[in-house]
Amino acid sequence: MRPASIGITVAIAVVVLAVVAVWWPTQVMRRRRMKSSGTSDVVVRCAQGHLFTTIWIPYVSFKAVRLGNKRYQHCPVGHHWSMVVPVSTTDLSDAERIEAARVHDVHIP
Ligand SMILES: [Zn+2]
Repeated sequence: MRPASIGITVAIAVVVLAVVAVWWPTQVMRRRRMKSSGTSDVVVRCAQGHLFTTIWIPYVSFKAVRLGNKRYQHCPVGHHWSMVVPVSTTDLSDAERIEAARVHDVHIP
C-alpha cells in the first residue's frame, strides 16, 4: 500500500469513527425518549427540579461542563448553575412537558 493511500484510509476511518461516536449516543437518547428525531433539543432537569429545554449534541458543548451523561450548566428557570440530566419525556406529565417547552436556554450547544 502506498503512503498516500494509507493516509486516505486513516482519514476515512477517522471520519467514520467520528460519525459513529455522535450517531450512537443520539440513537440511545432517542430510544430512551430523551430526544426527538430531527431535533437537538432535549428536556433536562436541574438538581433543584426545574425543567427546561436545551440543545444536547454528543461531545459538543460550549455553554456547559460535560460529566458523562450529566452537564454542569446555567439553569434559565432558577437562574443558577447546576448539574442537569436529560429526562425521558414519557416520564413527564403533560403539565411538566408544557413547563419544559416554555423555557429554552440559549441556542448554543
Ligand atoms: Zn434550576
